[in-house]
Amino acid sequence: MTDDTTAASALRGPIAKPGILDIAPYVGGKSAIAGITEPMKLSSNENALGAGEKAREAYAAAMANIHLYPDGRATKLRAAVAEHHELEPERLIFGNGSDEVFALLNQTYLTAGDNIVTGQYGFLAYRISAKANQAEVKLAPEPGYKAEVDALLEQVDERTRFVYVSNPSNPTGSYNSGEEIRRLHAALPSSILLVVDEAYAEFVVEPDWETAFPLARDAANLVVTRTFSKIHGLGGLRIGFGYAPLAVAEAVDRIRLPFNVSVPGLEAATAALGDEAHQKASRDLVQTWRPRLTQAIRGFGFEVMPSAGNFVMVRFPDEARNATAANDYLNGKGIIVRAVGGYGLPDCLRITIGTEDQNRAVIDALSEFAAR
Ligand SMILES: *Cc1c(COP(=O)(O)O)cnc(C)c1O
Repeated sequence: MTDDTTAASALRGPIAKPGILDIAPYVGGKSAIAGITEPMKLSSNENALGAGEKAREAYAAAMANIHLYPDGRATKLRAAVAEHHELEPERLIFGNGSDEVFALLNQTYLTAGDNIVTGQYGFLAYRISAKANQAEVKLAPEPGYKAEVDALLEQVDERTRFVYVSNPSNPTGSYNSGEEIRRLHAALPSSILLVVDEAYAEFVVEPDWETAFPLARDAANLVVTRTFSKIHGLGGLRIGFGYAPLAVAEAVDRIRLPFNVSVPGLEAATAALGDEAHQKASRDLVQTWRPRLTQAIRGFGFEVMPSAGNFVMVRFPDEARNATAANDYLNGKGIIVRAVGGYGLPDCLRITIGTEDQNRAVIDALSEFAAR
């Protein structure tokens, strides 16, 4: 090596592992509009009611202990989750958000050249950490904006280690029935992990939807994840969990950072689980306004996908009144929604179901936008 190349590489700095710089940076929901002091943030599927009183009290009380490291086993939260969902405590994986659970699973099982399979519009978090592990992402077409069992299975090959399904799905709002999830699981070899992300489980009303917890109980290759970010309104605290086969939970635990969930997070999440009133109020708000928003926006001539989550995805097929124009118009009214071009849905916007006032503001704004 000549002195010249040494100097040049010193200036260039370290080189990221293969694939890292091919990952498109994650762009979260926008949270500000220039010139508007208190915008309505309907861009990240946060809980419109905020966190419940019990969680906020527990968070405040935890202040006395923030000099202490958290309990790395999350013993109290573990017991509370196990009891609430009737799960074996030792099979739970806690993460800094369920995003971290996906990342830990990927880090535990993926090596270069492996792949994960997910739907065309599948949640981006699965894909980012897969690529960070030099794995490929194989996307199954979702012509109906919904993950299809056969299309997913068609993508599976000898290097597939994971199939990821969010059920209900973000950003489309679609869901898979219990029967579909069982059929998908039954068709996969036991060496491939099926991850069913149930972040929006609590908002579902469709009778053929089922949680995959019972299916996971006797499976060697099924992980079900849940989060405290949506129904419990604790997105800012970053807590989620997975219910995994014991061998998977134990493998993941070897690479999990010892103190990955914070002291206030553990306390607030434990309290939130016991706050049935806040969970019910959060569910009721969504279940009341989801059909109203859907119907109203459809009435303006836009397409609204049926949603099982706390949000709706709206498609603007019109060339003039397109999604970008709608987004700008809503921004002008102080309403922030989510553009989903990053998911390959440039003609759609995802709108979180808000409080009554916020939902009425969305309806009014889109009514005006349609009439322009
Ligand atoms: C919001 C969301 C989550 C939750 O992520 P956290 O990291 O737990 O906040 C998981 N999956 C999907 C599909 C989501 O939309």
